[in-house]
Amino acid sequence: MDIINYLKILITVILFSLFNSCDSGINLFTKQDDVQLGKEVNDEIISNPAEYPIFKGDPSIKTYIDQRIFSHILASPKVESKNIYPYQIEIIDQPDVLNAFALPGGYIYIYTGLLKYLNSEAALAGVLGHEIAHAELRHATQRLTAYYGVSILLSLILGENPSQLAEIAANLFVGLAFLANSRADENQADEASFNYLRDTRYYPGGVKFFFEQLRDDGLVSSNSGSIEIFLSTHPDPIDRISNTNSRLSGAGITMQDYKSTGEGIFKDEYHSNIKSKF
Ligand SMILES: [Zn+2]
Repeated sequence: MDIINYLKILITVILFSLFNSCDSGINLFTKQDDVQLGKEVNDEIISNPAEYPIFKGDPSIKTYIDQRIFSHILASPKVESKNIYPYQIEIIDQPDVLNAFALPGGYIYIYTGLLKYLNSEAALAGVLGHEIAHAELRHATQRLTAYYGVSILLSLILGENPSQLAEIAANLFVGLAFLANSRADENQADEASFNYLRDTRYYPGGVKFFFEQLRDDGLVSSNSGSIEIFLSTHPDPIDRISNTNSRLSGAGITMQDYKSTGEGIFKDEYHSNIKSKF
């Protein structure tokens, strides 16, 4: 074996162990790569209406969510990449799906099923803050680094395969439904959402409202139907309630739940501007 091949194998082994150590936070992609990946996968999504039907109903729903809630959260100084990422929301018209997801670079999708299920602006703000956090914290490209790390670095070293980003985007789109978030990533995104919401008119505990509602409706242990994909990609809803409650106590914030009508919840506004318009 010549020395070059030996070195390649050595580098591969070292990198392999480096990138496969859990939650290392190492990210080989640039923020511009995040934007490019998100854009390519977004293009796939909007050109696949059979799988991702974009909501064509009352346009005031999206405008309201965008201007009143989404932009308001993005205005938090803690959302640091808002000048780099083209943050945008899209509503997918699947009334049976209780889910939302984020692509790298800030492309965020929310299903009509979830919008119809939630019952306050604080609850929706909690979900949107969580998805913004996945983009800000770059969880997707961190995971992709762990998955592709060695081959990305080797092709950089060898100067091969300049179209690798497009290939990764294609694979990402195909695997979108199976893109599971780790428990650590979910908890980190909840924590960030809680902190963003503290800079808004919304109750920061809104982060947990969806899970409390699921729990009370007996859907947390459900293994079928509308919630299945959500639970497979968002583990541990019950732990997420208690983690948010600990954050509320720690910050000395009054404990409220999804049934509350106190400060920062905005149920009437949610009903009249979103829920009643479907
Ligand atoms: Zn998540």
